[in-house]
This record gives sequence, C-alpha cells and structure tokens, in this order.
Amino acid sequence: MKPHVINFHITNRCNYQCKHCFARFNQRELSLDEAKRVIDSIEEYFKEAQVTNSRINLAGGEPLIYPYIDEIIDYISSKGIKVSMITNGSLLTEERFEKWKGKVETIGISIDAKSKETNEKIGRCTKNGPLDLTRLKGVCDKIHKLGIKLKINTVISKVNLKEDLLSIYKQLKPDKVKYLCVHIIENKNSQMQSIVPSKEEFDKFVEMNTYDNNCQVVIENSGYMTNSYFMINPQGQVYMNDNGIEKLYGSCLEIPLTKIYDSVPLYENKFEERYKRKEN
Ligand code: SF4
Repeated sequence: MKPHVINFHITNRCNYQCKHCFARFNQRELSLDEAKRVIDSIEEYFKEAQVTNSRINLAGGEPLIYPYIDEIIDYISSKGIKVSMITNGSLLTEERFEKWKGKVETIGISIDAKSKETNEKIGRCTKNGPLDLTRLKGVCDKIHKLGIKLKINTVISKVNLKEDLLSIYKQLKPDKVKYLCVHIIENKNSQMQSIVPSKEEFDKFVEMNTYDNNCQVVIENSGYMTNSYFMINPQGQVYMNDNGIEKLYGSCLEIPLTKIYDSVPLYENKFEERYKRKEN
C-alpha cells in the first residue's frame, strides 16, 4: 500500500524549544507559490498511486507560524485532499480555526506534561510559560463543537514519566491519543539519547495514562518512526528517517514526487500496519 498520508513540515520555526525536537531543518521557508507547487506534486502522486482517503498532515516547527497557513489549508482542501495539523497549541485561537471548518479534519496538539516544571525541563513553553490548560480547554471544546477531530500527541521520555496525563485527557476529551516514545535521529538530536525511556518505563506510563473513553489509542514505541513516515521538509525536499538517520531524496520543486517516491526506502508494510491500527 502506497502512503495516503504525507507529512508536510511547512516551517522550521517554532516558539518552543523542546530539547528532544528533531524538526531542525534548514532555515529557508517556501513562498506561497512554491508551497502550492509542492502540493500540486503531492496531488499528482496521490492520483497516480490511486490512493483513496488522501490527506496532507501539516507539521513544523510550529505550522501556525507559517505566514500562509490559511491559504495552504484552502488550497489543499480545494483539491479534495483532507487536511490535518500537528501544533503545539500555543497559537490556536477560536477565531483562527473557525474558518477551517469543513476543511481541516483533525487538529493534533502536543501535550507531554501537566506541571510547569516538567514542561520547562522539556522546553515545551515560551518565556511566558507552558500552555494554559484553562484556555486550552475552551479551545478544545470549540474544536469539538465545530466537528473537527481532536488528537493529542504525548511524547514519553524519562523527563515526564511521573506526569499525570490522564486527568488532562479527561478534561479535553480527545478523539485520539497517540503515545510516542521520544525519538532520536543521529544527525538531529542524538545528544538526548539519555532521556529515552526503557520499554518497561514506556509501557508503565502508557498503562497508567491510558484514556480509552470512545477514543482511538495509538502506541508508537521506539523504532516505529523509522522508514514509515513519508515526509517533506520546509524546503520542499522529501526526507525519511532511514534507520535512525535523516536522509534527503530530492525536491518536489524539481522532480515529480511520483518519481522521488521510487527512491525512498519507505517500508510499505510498516506504514500499512500502522494504518490498519486506525492510526492517524
Ligand atoms: S513544539 Fe514541536 S516543533 Fe516546536 S520545539 Fe517542540 S517538538 Fe520541536
């Protein structure tokens, strides 16, 4: 099965500084016209691969910092391709996503901890502090009201093992929760190897924080991300985590994505396995 979901990391910039972050790309960002050309190339790939249920997942950095994010959502949606987004939540406002109704299928928010101290240790905060959970509750209620699916991504590392995420999930009522093991990429964040939890620690955290109230639960232990995510970076280049090392495979602005795809070591079985589990 060829991937029906492509992760487009539309910007390198972020207002947080998570120490484990591996989204460290070249600073140059695409213009609106260039970003549209990348989307045209993705559309052509979806058509040629005859994939159904095609979706582009907008990520970053923090995608809400990209100046043309609304135009990009409109453009993708106008092609009949679904849109989802992963955000740190700090810039989400009701006014902002109200206009995404009927266009954005899922908004994913990254939440790793409840306590200010742990969020600061992780770097999931601005100088004004981490996400305000009271404000976030209002935002999430509105997301539900608009019929947009809410997903929460929680990255598990040795830093947040003692955190109570379950009480946050109960308040925000996500449709999906994804538990990810902190992911180390050799040429990106290898200095953070010491915070990778053991399998026992990871499993225990998930067990203690499992929220299954009509909610899809997705568990991605260490190793799940290698060779199974199809990604485009903020310069329009296809890249892949190939067995723990980030590698580039060509620019969608120069070569059709359909051609680049043939040279990417994506393990289609691994991708398929993930989506059989209804992961998004
Ligand atoms: S919020 Fe996401 S993109 Fe920003 S620093 Fe943290 S992990 Fe990286």
